[in-house]
Amino acid sequence: MPIYEYACRKCGHEFETLVRSGSVPDCPSCRSTELEKKLSVFATAASGPEAAPAGACGACGHPGGPGACALN
Ligand SMILES: [Zn+2]
Repeated sequence: MPIYEYACRKCGHEFETLVRSGSVPDCPSCRSTELEKKLSVFATAASGPEAAPAGACGACGHPGGPGACALN
C-alpha cells in the first residue's frame, strides 16, 4: 500500500496518507479534495539508476509525471 504526500490547495496543509485504488483522499484539515500529490516517500527512497523514471505518475505509471493521468 503506497503512502503519498499531499499538499492541500485550499488551506496549504501538508499530510501523508495511504491511498487505496479507486479512493480519493481529502484534506484532514478542511476536507477539500483539491490536493496536489507529491512524490511518495517510497518512490523517493527507491530512486536510482535501475528504478522507474522519477517523473512517472505514482498512480498509474504515466510517463508524463505526477498527475498527468488526471489531466485527460
Ligand atoms: Zn485543506
